[in-house]
Amino acid sequence: MTLDPDKLFSSSAKMKINFVLSIIVILYWSVNYFSWTVLLLGLLSYYTIGKIGGDVALHRYFSHRSFKTSNFWDKVLKFISFIVGHGSQFLWVITHRVHHKDSDTVDDPHPPAIAGNLKIFLRTWSSDFVPSAKYGKDIIRDTEIMFIHKHYFKLFYLWLVVLSMFGIYPLLLLFAFPCFGFFLETGIVNIVGHGHGYRTYNTPDHSTNNIILNTLTIGNGMHNTHHCYQSSYTTDIRNKWYEFDLMKYFIHAIRT
Ligand SMILES: [Zn+2]
Ligand SMILES: [Zn+2]
Repeated sequence: MTLDPDKLFSSSAKMKINFVLSIIVILYWSVNYFSWTVLLLGLLSYYTIGKIGGDVALHRYFSHRSFKTSNFWDKVLKFISFIVGHGSQFLWVITHRVHHKDSDTVDDPHPPAIAGNLKIFLRTWSSDFVPSAKYGKDIIRDTEIMFIHKHYFKLFYLWLVVLSMFGIYPLLLLFAFPCFGFFLETGIVNIVGHGHGYRTYNTPDHSTNNIILNTLTIGNGMHNTHHCYQSSYTTDIRNKWYEFDLMKYFIHAIRT
C-alpha cells in the first residue's frame, strides 16, 4: 500500500478540528446544561475512555507494542482509540515513533526546547512535519487500522452524527471529555515530560519524570523512565509509590 505524504499531512492538520469540536461541545454544555454530576462523569469518561483509547491503546499498544492481547481486546482497543478522536491510529503511531527516534532534536515532531511550549501545546508544530510511513511497517499490515486511516474523517463524523442523535450527553461523554482530556494530557506530557522534573536515567534526550504530572494523568508522568524503557508497558518499575501507574492494572487484566 502506498501512502501519499500530502494526505498524511492534511490528515494531521484536519485532526485539530476534532479538538476544537470537543471544546465547542463542552462550552455549549457548560453554558446551557452545566451540572457538577455531569462534570464528574466527564472526568470519569476521560479517565476511562480517554486513558484506555489514548494512553493504553494509541501509545503503549499500537506505538510501542509493549504487550500482547486477545483478538477481542485488539478490536476493542481499535474502537476506543478511534472514538477518542485523536486522528487515525496509523498517523499517531508513526508520529510518536519518530518522536522517540529523534527526541529533542530538529527532527523530533514536537521538541519543546526548539519549537516553544505554546506551539507544542497547540499542535501547530505538525504543520511543517510530515511523518514517513516507513515507521509503521508493522501496523500497515493491519487491514482494520488502514481502513480507519483511509476513511478516518468520514467514519469519525458519522460517529459524531450518530452520537448527536441521542442528545448532548453521549456527545459529551463519549467524545468531548475523552478527546479534550487526552488532548490536554499529551500536550502537557510533551512539554513537562521534556524538561520539568527529575531524571532517573541518563537518556540522550531531555526527558524527565514529574510526580504532579504522573498523579494528574494517573500514571503517564514518568516520561524519563518511559524514554529509557520504551518497550515496557508500564513505568512503575522502581516500586516507588509516587511513580504509580493505574493503567498497568488494566493491561494486566487484558494482556495474554
Ligand atoms: Zn512513547
Ligand atoms: Zn517524549
